[in-house]
Amino acid sequence: MTDDSNGLFATATAQFNRGADLIGLTPSIRSILSQPKNEIIVNFPVRMNSGDYEMFRGYRIQHSNILGPYKGGVRFHPAVNLDEVKALAAWMTWKSALCDIPFGGAKGGISFDPLALEVDELERVVRRFTHALGSNIGPDHDIPAPDLGSNARAMVWMMDTYANSTGATERQNVKRIVTGKTLETGGSPGREKATGQGVVFCLQHWADEVGFDLTGASAIIQGWGNVGSATGRLLQVHGAQIRAVADHRGAIADEDGIDAFDLTDWVAEHGTVTGFPAAGWIEPADFWKVEADLVVPAAIENQITARNAGDIRAKVVVEAANGPTTLEAEAILTERGIEILPDILVNAGGVVVSYFEWLQNRSAQRWTIDEVDHKLREVLWKASDAVCELREELEVSSRRDAAYGVALRRLQTVYQQRGIFP
Ligand code: NAD
Repeated sequence: MTDDSNGLFATATAQFNRGADLIGLTPSIRSILSQPKNEIIVNFPVRMNSGDYEMFRGYRIQHSNILGPYKGGVRFHPAVNLDEVKALAAWMTWKSALCDIPFGGAKGGISFDPLALEVDELERVVRRFTHALGSNIGPDHDIPAPDLGSNARAMVWMMDTYANSTGATERQNVKRIVTGKTLETGGSPGREKATGQGVVFCLQHWADEVGFDLTGASAIIQGWGNVGSATGRLLQVHGAQIRAVADHRGAIADEDGIDAFDLTDWVAEHGTVTGFPAAGWIEPADFWKVEADLVVPAAIENQITARNAGDIRAKVVVEAANGPTTLEAEAILTERGIEILPDILVNAGGVVVSYFEWLQNRSAQRWTIDEVDHKLREVLWKASDAVCELREELEVSSRRDAAYGVALRRLQTVYQQRGIFP
């Protein structure tokens, strides 16, 4: 457990300030949005299978709710810390605003390694965390979702714990306290693949804009979890070829292509891409050197740095993960003419389909996968259009700055109309 800073909030703040400068955000709104509204830290005990009690530290950072309820995932990872969760929470605000969905931004997490626990221990950690958050979360107030290290099963535990802590007459009405649940317990069709699907929709929009053909394109992907594997499978279905994949254990490559479906089966069984028999092993440091049209970081933050940005030989870096590119690396990539599709646009598919799940729970409906995909594409292409239009209007080349500009303009308009209380 650690509170060590990895500098992520400084990166998020620098990005925010660039977007704010671009659109001339008023100083008062800039100062409101430059800090989260609430920073909640809970320390809670959990009974382990050894019989001992262990203390855990959990976070919920609520960045903004000016556009709607706080919304954002919960991360289970040993490196979770306050600085990181603050950055991730701010990014959620910008994502929702950019996609024009009525949600604010939040993020949470617990600093521990979920893979090191037995399933029943993990369940007690998740349930106890939910209980410790208490009324700081709520179905129309703050709505968690899965993120790195957490999944649909954890969301079901959170929902069940919350429901059982409410009065009997309310219990059926609180399913939307979390999104990213299993289908059977109120999840939405398409939520599992939503972030990857969104990555591919944004890529299609970009490809169309710049005249690039995704069919026959090559890609390397870091991270083969929820986001990376869904992106890989969908890219393959679109005729792209995956040349290399890396995860927390190592990296593999094959210049004739790695089958995304076989790799998914392998990782489900073995927990890592390493050892996959149909590809060769490469040094993790060499992963970024593999030539491909698309470089897709889909793991953790601060992965493309000043050390490896010069190695990348691609047309575009597609930020499926949150904050994968450091500020220094961004400058190097830009200088080298490599485009960056920014995280707040490219990985927003998760929160958009979470919004769809929340709407379905609210009205006791079940949409079809075609409806979900269709509406997701519509939202993300509209957001992509808005980014293109602002780039043109303000003559700015950075897609990240323009994406922030679109989000911040929307937030500014609402602040100007609502004012602040009292
Ligand atoms: P996940 O836990 O399902 O998978 C994470 C993957 O990253 C795994 O393959 C893991 O091995 C790999 N990884 C972890 N540490 C690594 C390291 N040091 N080096 C290389 N690989 C490493 O997580 P996920 O849900 O796929 O999330 C991945 C990223 O996408 C995160 O940045 C997350 O915030 C972001 N994101 C997720 C969602 C979502 O809906 N799950 C939505 C938006 C953004």
